[in-house]
Amino acid sequence: MKRILTGDRPTGPLHLGHYVGSLENRVKFQDDYDSYILIADVQALTDNFDNPEKVRLNTLQVLLDNISVGLDPQKVTFHLQSAIPQIAELTIFYANLVSIARLERNPTVKDEIAQKADKFKGSLTLGFLMYPVSQAADITIVKGEIVPVGEDQVPHIEQAREIVRKFNSIYGNVFPEPEVLLSENRRLVGTDGNAKMSKSIGNCIYLSDTVESVNEKVKNMYTDPNRIRATDPGRVEGNPVFIYHDIFNPNKPEVEGLKSRYLKGAVGDVEVKQKLAIAINTFLEPIRERRSKFEDPQKLMEILDAGTKKAQKIAQETMKEVKDAMGIYLVK
Ligand code: ATP
Ligand code: MG
Repeated sequence: MKRILTGDRPTGPLHLGHYVGSLENRVKFQDDYDSYILIADVQALTDNFDNPEKVRLNTLQVLLDNISVGLDPQKVTFHLQSAIPQIAELTIFYANLVSIARLERNPTVKDEIAQKADKFKGSLTLGFLMYPVSQAADITIVKGEIVPVGEDQVPHIEQAREIVRKFNSIYGNVFPEPEVLLSENRRLVGTDGNAKMSKSIGNCIYLSDTVESVNEKVKNMYTDPNRIRATDPGRVEGNPVFIYHDIFNPNKPEVEGLKSRYLKGAVGDVEVKQKLAIAINTFLEPIRERRSKFEDPQKLMEILDAGTKKAQKIAQETMKEVKDAMGIYLVK
C-alpha cells in the first residue's frame, strides 16, 4: 500500500474549503492507502507563537473534524507533530539544502506574509519563512508518497520534492519523491468572495456550524455586487453562491433552473440563498451526527496517543536511515 501524508494546522475549526480541498480525498482513499494525518501544532505556532492556547484548544477539535467527515481511526493514523521530535531534527538537516532566496520566492508564503503583515510588522520570523522546510520533514519522516491537499499547498510539495532530490543525490536514496494529489475543487472561495475560504480570514462555513449559523452565513454571502434588484440580470460565473450550489447541491435540475433565472433577472438572491442553505445543511447533517458520537475528549486523546506512538516508531526508523546515509555516528 502506498503511503499518504497530509494534515491540518490546529488554528481553528475545519471548514467546507478543507472538505473539498483535502478531507474528501482523505475519506475516499482511506481504504486503499496507508494514511497518516498530521495535526501540525508546531507549524500552527509559527504564526501563533503568542497564542499557544489557541493551538492547544483546536488540536482535539481538528481531530474531531477529521473523524466527523468519515475518517475511521482504525484505518487512518492521526499523529501530533510536537510529539515527534525527529521532524524538528530532520528540518535542521533539510535547512542546509534550501536557500533563503528560494523560500522567499514561494508564492503561498508570499501571500500569507502579506495577509499577516500586522503580525510580522515587516520583521518576518525565521520559523514562518521556513515552515515549508518543516513541512517537507513532516511528509518524508513517514516516507509519504501521496499528499492530498488544496492548491495553496502545491508550492510546498514542489519544495519538498526539491529537498528530497537534493538529499538523495548527496547522501543516497532514502526518500521517495512525494506527489501532490489535487481534488477537483482545488480552492474554495470564501463567503465574502475572497479567492480562498480560510480560517485566518474568517470567511468560512465550518463543518461544525449549526443549522442557524449556516442559514445566517449564507444569507450574508457575497454574490454579484452589480446586481441591485431581483430583476437585474446577474452573473453566475465566479459567483460564490453558484460555486457552492454546484458543489454542495446534488439537485442539478434545481441548480440549472436557478442559474438560468438568475441570468435573466427572474429570481431574487433570497431564493437562491435559501436553497443553498438547505443544500449545505443537508450535506452537513451526517457530519454533525458523527461528530456527536465522537465528541469525548478522552476518546479523542486515546486516538491521538495511539496514532502518535505508531508514527513515532516510523520516525525513529527513518531518522536512523537518515543518519546512516549521512554518515553520522549513531550514539545510544
Ligand atoms: P490557516 O489560515 O491557519 O493556514 P487554512 O484554512 O489555510 O488555515 P490549513 O490547515 O492551512 O487551513 O490547510 C489544511 C488543508 O486544507 C490544506 O491541504 C489546504 O490546501 C486545504 N485548504 C484550506 N483551505 C482551502 C480552500 N479554501 N479550498 C481548498 N482547500 C483548502
Ligand atoms: Mg493554510
